[in-house]
Amino acid sequence: MVRMEIERLASLVAERQPCVALTGAGVSTESGIPDFRSPTGIWAQYDPLEVATIDAFLADPVKVWEFYGRRLELLRTAEPNEGHRALAELERRGWVRAVITQNIDLLHARAGSQELVEVHGSIRTSSCLDCGAVVPLDEVVALLPVPFCPSCGRILKPDVVMFGELLPERAIARATRLAAEAALLLVVGSSLEVYPVAGLPLETLAAGGSLAIVNRGATPLDARAALTVDAGAGETLRALAEALPECG
Ligand SMILES: [Zn+2]
Repeated sequence: MVRMEIERLASLVAERQPCVALTGAGVSTESGIPDFRSPTGIWAQYDPLEVATIDAFLADPVKVWEFYGRRLELLRTAEPNEGHRALAELERRGWVRAVITQNIDLLHARAGSQELVEVHGSIRTSSCLDCGAVVPLDEVVALLPVPFCPSCGRILKPDVVMFGELLPERAIARATRLAAEAALLLVVGSSLEVYPVAGLPLETLAAGGSLAIVNRGATPLDARAALTVDAGAGETLRALAEALPECG
């Protein structure tokens, strides 16, 4: 990571307000949460197509919960890292208006981010597809290995967006509006490959805003970004927070 890149990133954030952050799995890998695209940790043992699709859940919810139970345990014990904390701090100081995230792990919320749009849902709750009961995480964990609905007995579904499901309509509408209103969309830890979230930077560009991309590896939108930083999320966001004046 080059000092000059951080200074350019800080100038962009300072000059192009409001700045909205869009985060992906790369922000949470430093908290020990593996990206399903890299076959490490629990993703090495499970095929996403067998455990993370809505069809798989409807066909065999017990099998899907065998996987999710392990995943919940991992996510519940993970801690926010420097990247999550720096984004929450930048919001408090007025430099970041909101965080849009693809992550379901609650780490942005636990780090203190207030304006948070979780476009793939989160593990905060699970719901009953029959009676509509909504059950908070701690209760779901107490019901493992297979959490049956306390009201009607059907197996609950985690409120995370599975492959093959539509994104939550209100969250994606809010994310789209925030992206279009952003003078700068700060993409962090996303390879911008999963639609429709990958389309959010296009909303920013179409409305005349700019992109800055902090990601390990290339993304399809690098050529259209005002700045790309090929570095880890935690160190880059911490350095950004230190490079900016106290208040935005
Ligand atoms: Zn129910």
